[in-house]
Amino acid sequence: MSGVLLDVKNLSVCFDTYAGQVQAVRDVSFQVREGERLAVVGESGSGKSVMTQSFVSLLPSPPARIAGGQVVYLGEDILKYSFRQYRKIKGAEIAYVFQDPMTSLNPTSRIGAQVIEGLVSHRRMDRRAAKAFALELMKKVGIPSPERRLEQYPYELSGGMRQRVMIAIAIALTPRLLIADEPTTALDVTIQSQILHILKHLNQSAGMALLLITHDMGIVAGMAERMLVMYGGKIVESGPVQALFSGAHHPYTRALLASVPRLDKEQQGELQYIVGSPPDMLCPPAGCPFAPRCKFSMKACFTVMPEEAQTGPDHLVSCHLAHPGAAAVRARFESVYAGEVGDA
Ligand code: SF4
Repeated sequence: MSGVLLDVKNLSVCFDTYAGQVQAVRDVSFQVREGERLAVVGESGSGKSVMTQSFVSLLPSPPARIAGGQVVYLGEDILKYSFRQYRKIKGAEIAYVFQDPMTSLNPTSRIGAQVIEGLVSHRRMDRRAAKAFALELMKKVGIPSPERRLEQYPYELSGGMRQRVMIAIAIALTPRLLIADEPTTALDVTIQSQILHILKHLNQSAGMALLLITHDMGIVAGMAERMLVMYGGKIVESGPVQALFSGAHHPYTRALLASVPRLDKEQQGELQYIVGSPPDMLCPPAGCPFAPRCKFSMKACFTVMPEEAQTGPDHLVSCHLAHPGAAAVRARFESVYAGEVGDA
């Protein structure tokens, strides 16, 4: 097993608002290993972006606040870092690619200046060497006519080209970890597949770990080795992608997988969907956050938070169904989902 690159321990993140405290991330623990491709999935509001943005101090504070926990990167808790220390690791060690490149690219500055800036300040290159390196990066991420693109402004590029520029900037300092937050959501399917191919290639050729945030199970199946499933600010299940796709143990993961249309299987009956809505994080439930929507909920689910249980190699689940006393409900769960979700 590869070494641990990022060790997230009992992380909680909240937002102090006039309406009260929004508990966006609640006591989350997991690890990112060197060179792995890890996906974080979950519906909007599950806490996945807040969690990853808190690693590199991207959340506006106030209202965001780290309410507890540690994020240990190569032995140091980076949540304790000063602004100056963050600047050193941002980009050089941990890079972030957002869903919408227009929010990260400066609209008033040419592409060349934006790619070259980091190389000059972080790598201490002179402008000529930085420009040559920027051209190489642009080619690496599949940008045609890179000389011309360097002279253009962001608005002159298509969405796919802008996302490639963002990836070029993100990999310019050869980070050990690239966090990509829904990097292809705004793009059409062909461009989406090209961008994902670039990210996978960078992971395989440069050994850069990839933390991919998505709500698209197709992307998870094609890209990731391991996955974390988030719901209500908590990680409810985690494990190897193959294991979760062929035998998820949490009702939310099963419901998510059952709601994905499959082209490789004949559709039997209507497509599944999850009835109800996510919990209000101003006042999250004391018990399992999925209880009001879960077909298998028991009395204890509404009042007692399930503990994490290991159900297979590297496979963890937070659900009372994993308890030996819930065998009868678990048997019903297994029979409901038997054969419904196939291999990844
Ligand atoms: Fe459903 Fe209970 Fe498991 Fe939550 S703990 S997912 S409510 S069975």
